Amino acid sequence: MDFTLNDEQRQIYEYGGQLAQSFDNTYWLEHARQHTFPREMFQQIANDGFLGMMVPEEYGGTGLGMTEMMLFMEGTANYGIPLLMMVVGPCMSLSHLSKHGTEFHKKELLPAACKGDIQFCFAITEPGAGSNSIKTKTMAKRNGNRFSLSGEKTFITGADVSDYCLVVARTTPHDQVSRRTDGFTLFAVDLKKKGVDKQRVKISIPLPEEQWTLFFDEVDLGPEDVVGHIDEGFNILFDTLNPERIILSGLCCGLGRFALNKAVEYANERVVFGQPIGAHQGVQHPMAKAHTNIEMASLMGRRAAWEFDTGQPAGASANMAKYAAAEAGIEAVDAALQAHGGAGFTEDTGVYEMYPLMRLLRTAPVNRELCLSFIGEKVMGLPKSY
Ligand SMILES: Cc1cc2nc3c(=O)[nH]c(=O)nc-3n(C[C@H](O)[C@H](O)[C@H](O)COP(=O)(O)OP(=O)(O)OC[C@H]3O[C@@H](n4cnc5c(N)ncnc54)[C@H](O)[C@@H]3O)c2cc1C
Repeated sequence: MDFTLNDEQRQIYEYGGQLAQSFDNTYWLEHARQHTFPREMFQQIANDGFLGMMVPEEYGGTGLGMTEMMLFMEGTANYGIPLLMMVVGPCMSLSHLSKHGTEFHKKELLPAACKGDIQFCFAITEPGAGSNSIKTKTMAKRNGNRFSLSGEKTFITGADVSDYCLVVARTTPHDQVSRRTDGFTLFAVDLKKKGVDKQRVKISIPLPEEQWTLFFDEVDLGPEDVVGHIDEGFNILFDTLNPERIILSGLCCGLGRFALNKAVEYANERVVFGQPIGAHQGVQHPMAKAHTNIEMASLMGRRAAWEFDTGQPAGASANMAKYAAAEAGIEAVDAALQAHGGAGFTEDTGVYEMYPLMRLLRTAPVNRELCLSFIGEKVMGLPKSY
């Protein structure tokens, strides 16, 4: 068994340190507090060639895989730069367009997206359906070879700064399909089209990316907008779920490490009762435990990415990695907060402000319970619970 990263992977993992020289955690936090998108940082990431990591070279990308994508995410989060827009754009949208998109998507949109000239977001969640995507109501009614899209998607990250959105819609009503996952189609929707509207969902988390409800009112779409096969969108979606879990496991591990590193520095310097607080086991052990759990979750994330890249079933590892990393990340931020005492709650340290994002990742985009249900049912053979 070889855990060594190759030179390219090591460089990708360490890129966060290079990026942080110009755009560090303070820069991220300033944008997060004001909910303003960090455009200059994103453009730098584009210029450095990281937006098209999962896009083949012929369409403007670098043709790498899930492992490299996860290393990028974990590596930047290691420096306190968690990038949700990288999840919904380069990981969840661009990779699908390069595999399943039309010639228009591949030749026109992907090269522009890899350069950072256009951005993508991803929309599956609906107010009524929630975690149960099968209940999706957004409908693209067929009219010859064209479609009329109507419906509502909510919590869509970065819809305000995106040009296109990968939208999951029904093309056949659920009572007319034989399998419950049939009848869905993915569309790359130009958000400037007539009939698209949006309203901000005010999320109470310091985050640079805002969330939006998107409204579609008879938006005209053509065959050039379809991603993959009509009515078979769920086959693509199954390919989306594991990468999303894997990349977020990397984000949780990285941000957890960043919090712990800050706490180690503080606990070595801060002296009360005549010695550095880190000398107290009551401070040290929660940090050591969180560190152990972060490193275990990180290993599981790497295994999941390797399985995905090598075409093996990655569901078990991806769910375990996402579950373990979110829990370990919360534990790490909590230990870091406790070690900082009152200082942890100041804007100067920014430790408390890491907590809401980390806590979010237990609930969204896939909640803890659905990860555990997958493990219980699909991995361990327990009865289906929902
Ligand atoms: C900041 C943020 C960003 C987001 N970005 C996007 C995005 O870019 N695109 C997008 O499409 N969506 C996005 N979402 C939506 C997110 O994916 C959903 O919030 C999430 O999938 C859960 O859906 P829900 O909120 O409707 O919760 P519900 O489905 O109503 O579930 C509520 C709770 O019930 C429990 N639960 C639900 N089902 C089960 C079950 N079967 N067994 C046990 N317990 C269960 C869980 O604890 C869950 O937290 C975002 C959400 C947030 C908050």
